[in-house]
Amino acid sequence: MSTKIQIGNVTIHRIVEQEGPFFNAAQFFPAITKELLDENRSWLRPRFLDEQDRPMLCIQSYIVKTPHHTIMIDSCVGNHKPRPTRPFWNMMNSDRYEKNLAGAGFGVNDIDFVMCTHLHTDHVGWNTRLENGRWVPTFPKARYVFSDRELEFWTRREKDDPAAAPWITDSVLPIVAAGRVDIVKSAHAFNDLMTLIPTPGHTIDHYSVHVGKSGTDAVVTGDMIHSPLQARYPELGMMADYDSKIAGESRRQLFGRFCDTSTLMCTAHFPSPSTARVVRHKDAFDFVDA
Ligand SMILES: [Zn+2]
Repeated sequence: MSTKIQIGNVTIHRIVEQEGPFFNAAQFFPAITKELLDENRSWLRPRFLDEQDRPMLCIQSYIVKTPHHTIMIDSCVGNHKPRPTRPFWNMMNSDRYEKNLAGAGFGVNDIDFVMCTHLHTDHVGWNTRLENGRWVPTFPKARYVFSDRELEFWTRREKDDPAAAPWITDSVLPIVAAGRVDIVKSAHAFNDLMTLIPTPGHTIDHYSVHVGKSGTDAVVTGDMIHSPLQARYPELGMMADYDSKIAGESRRQLFGRFCDTSTLMCTAHFPSPSTARVVRHKDAFDFVDA
């Protein structure tokens, strides 16, 4: 299984924490109709949809190694974290993530930056780890790059109702308290090889990350897409969306910009190998193997 991608002088690694079916399609895509699923089941199975109509999902981080920095994008679910509404993530205690990190040649001290495309539970988990009963930054040398409006939204949500966002309590606020956050705009030019692209809708200020130079480049999409079905039907929202209409507009805009080019899409949740190119398909888009 390929977990290493070369883009010019940048290397991108995938660090997988989990892979499998977690939700059924009707739950995952609340607006999906029986007809739409019937029409698309044949090409989705078995790779993207299992026999019980559950989307196949990968939970993973990307690590982008430029000549100057090592940047982690999204930090999965993490260990020892109470997630009462998500049994398959509740109090997880697995060595798979750390093993895969080491297998790719990285230790926690190698990470210079952690970018969170958005502040959902499966994208912030390894921001922190439990040490003597306290949540401390997992990556001791890293700065953590959060969008200003995203952080503001979730900080308020947690303050109003801590039980509604336990991942903010244990995986985001301790990073803020440790003074390790770089608060940026979701269109932030990080350096000459990496620029954030605002892709709002899944959350209030979700960003994707453009890596490399035009012609030799990739987009780490985060959760602006969860299944290739949402390329064929960009308006199809998923259950955790903040605003599915805006998420659909973000898909049309980003895929319109990069379709029929060599740009590699590095998706957060497509099953392995998780990467593909986007092409135009009828009045929408499709993903094709790179
Ligand atoms: Zn999400």
